[in-house]
Amino acid sequence: MAEQKKYHRFITEIDMKDVDRVKQLVLASRNVVITCHVSPDGDALGSSCALCHVLKAIGKQVNIVTADCAPKALQFLPGVRDIIAATRQNERARELMTNADLIFCMDFNDPERLDKLSGTLLESKALKIMIDHHLAPRLEAEVQISRPEVSSTSALLYIFLWQAAWTRYLNRSAAACIYTGMMTDTGNFSYNSNDPDLYLIIHDLMRKGIDKDNLYKLVMNTSSESRVRIMGFAQYRMQIIPEHKAAIITLSETELKEFEYNKGDTEGLVNVPLSIPDVTYSIFLREDANDCVKVSMRSKGNFSVSLICEENFNGGGHTNAAGGEFKGSLVCAVQKLLEIIPNYDKYL
Ligand code: 5GP
Ligand code: MN
Repeated sequence: MAEQKKYHRFITEIDMKDVDRVKQLVLASRNVVITCHVSPDGDALGSSCALCHVLKAIGKQVNIVTADCAPKALQFLPGVRDIIAATRQNERARELMTNADLIFCMDFNDPERLDKLSGTLLESKALKIMIDHHLAPRLEAEVQISRPEVSSTSALLYIFLWQAAWTRYLNRSAAACIYTGMMTDTGNFSYNSNDPDLYLIIHDLMRKGIDKDNLYKLVMNTSSESRVRIMGFAQYRMQIIPEHKAAIITLSETELKEFEYNKGDTEGLVNVPLSIPDVTYSIFLREDANDCVKVSMRSKGNFSVSLICEENFNGGGHTNAAGGEFKGSLVCAVQKLLEIIPNYDKYL
């Protein structure tokens, strides 16, 4: 009885059959690949790097393969520099994915989220294990650990490791990766953060020696001059539509050039309008090259921006954080947005 109860530490539980199956597959594997979504964020990279450290400690041959590179602010994460990104090493990335016998799919629910690597993932004969917290999983996997109620894939990974009795393979570096993922997906524990499990996990990670205050500084205090200026400019120009409780922020291709925009400079911008009590959802449109507008949305409470992104911008995500794309100019994207916004008044 005591033996059976051993893993009951967290409110969230993963089916022990799935945990045992993953352990079995890992132990039987020869070439493991870990992958995560395109434009990887703290949680995608944190969970991938942490798992990589653990599998290496177990003695496995393992590589992290992604569609594109990690943003500058996350380059400090132990292991990030060894990632094989298709934008830099296309052949090698595809070769590793094709020849793997086991692929861990971290922090995404749909093969499309691998962007240019999605075909390679689907064609690879490797068995797939999904560990993710996005709604509506659409990825066929041998084991699917999909828990949308958990605030980060990194926290879910920790719970998996705990149940697998593999937390002993977590060193300080891996613990720092997990903490970073948990912190970034909850806005430094300011939303989606009422789950008591999170604080038990943090306790364990601190016992592994992480410096949480320093990790916050490493992730957050890394702004470039261009970022600070572009954030100020975009916020100054924000449009509020009071009757729809919406805020819109836009940045055109020309403006991005003018401000010497670098990838990652607008991270977090979409959240800012939510600090206004009467704004229920916030939309950020960024005109990237080739007539492609990146759509990013955030909301409060039960209002689902994931629904808006799915229905109009070929995207999705979570209830309160979602994204998608618009093919066309920024002007056309804004026009479309203004047309569809009234359709969602009924959910306000
Ligand atoms: P962000 O606004 O930070 O780019 O993305 C927030 C969340 O929205 C992501 O964690 C992801 O779940 C979702 N998301 C962003 N862009 C896309 C997209 O193009 N397609 C889908 N399906 N989801 C997206
Ligand atoms: Mn995540």
